[in-house]
Amino acid sequence: MSEPFLPFTRPSIDEETIAEVANVLRSGWITSGPKVQAFEAALSEYCGDRPLRAFNSGTATLEVALRLAKVGAGDTVITTPLTWVATANVILEVGATPVFVDVDPATRNIDLDKLEAAITPKTKGIIPVDLAGLPVDRDRLYAIANKHSLRVIEDAAQAFGASWNGKPIGSTGDFVSFSFHANKNLTTCEGGALVLPADIDTGLCERLRLQGVRRFPDGGMDVDVLGGKFNLTDIAATIGLGQMKHLAAFTARRRELARRYFACLDPALGLELPVADFSNSNWHMFQVLLPAGVDRGNFIAAMKQRGIGVGVHYPALHLFTLYRAMGFKEGNFPQAERIGGTIVTLPLFPAMQDSDVDRVCAVLAESLASNLRSAS
Ligand SMILES: *Cc1c(COP(=O)(O)O)cnc(C)c1O
Repeated sequence: MSEPFLPFTRPSIDEETIAEVANVLRSGWITSGPKVQAFEAALSEYCGDRPLRAFNSGTATLEVALRLAKVGAGDTVITTPLTWVATANVILEVGATPVFVDVDPATRNIDLDKLEAAITPKTKGIIPVDLAGLPVDRDRLYAIANKHSLRVIEDAAQAFGASWNGKPIGSTGDFVSFSFHANKNLTTCEGGALVLPADIDTGLCERLRLQGVRRFPDGGMDVDVLGGKFNLTDIAATIGLGQMKHLAAFTARRRELARRYFACLDPALGLELPVADFSNSNWHMFQVLLPAGVDRGNFIAAMKQRGIGVGVHYPALHLFTLYRAMGFKEGNFPQAERIGGTIVTLPLFPAMQDSDVDRVCAVLAESLASNLRSAS
């Protein structure tokens, strides 16, 4: 008897939200309107009433944040090579140069012990990434950033619902960027939000979001800055509002499932486990490193054959062709390369059953055993 395929993630969208999306479709107002405003208000409230604007992707929020921070040609921005490539692509998009700092092998986030040495007079900002929803140490990060007067754009795409010192990520700090892509802890299908620091003009943020257009009460308009096309739709915002009602429960359930993984994964398998953090992390992903000698491709195929979806998040991005062409190569960031070469994301999403975790653990043990056999 074969059980249904278990993907590594799956969104949970309730029937009430689906009905409300249908209402919006019938209302005649389907692009940015009242639902986006309501979603922004709900998100802002969650982020300690900080100014916040919704976007059509997390990537767009990062790009606009860089523009608002006046980062451009001649500037460098420090980030991690172990992230979704969007984090570094936006630096190139605004004409600046990414500078990578290797990751801490325990947290898999940017190594704060190595951060300061990478700062030069050209450094304009830092984009830390909370990989898998495990927050970068905000106290240490801001101590370094403030000492060198650097802007911080928190790529908290994976950290919505996570916290630091008991406060939600987004409620403190400089710029904070979230993604609401389908795989993220809160989704609008595609979408994002940018929390703005107090010194940034929210009107300019809105203009960068939509063609630079400034509208006047008499119906006239002007364009004084080059903006993009980054506005969220009311349909997406309606889904986001429906998701917000479940955020706390989603995070709590993810933490329970993560705890269960720690309990059921046999230490004898030789996997390298994530940091067991149940107060800050939102457990966006549960990621393990395969033992040396295991062929990841074969392992993933073996899992899939047994009905379990496994992801790779992410190969070290400096080894992508685009970045190699800029001069990056093997050996530049050994930890990111080792982790990026052996990491796998196991299934974890709020609708998963406890028994699903047990099944993943059993199938993983089997797949590792068969993989090691076939490799020898
Ligand atoms: C998802 C993600 C992004 C980009 O978000 P999109 O909404 O897909 O544009 C950026 N950085 C990280 C770390 C992400 O996980």
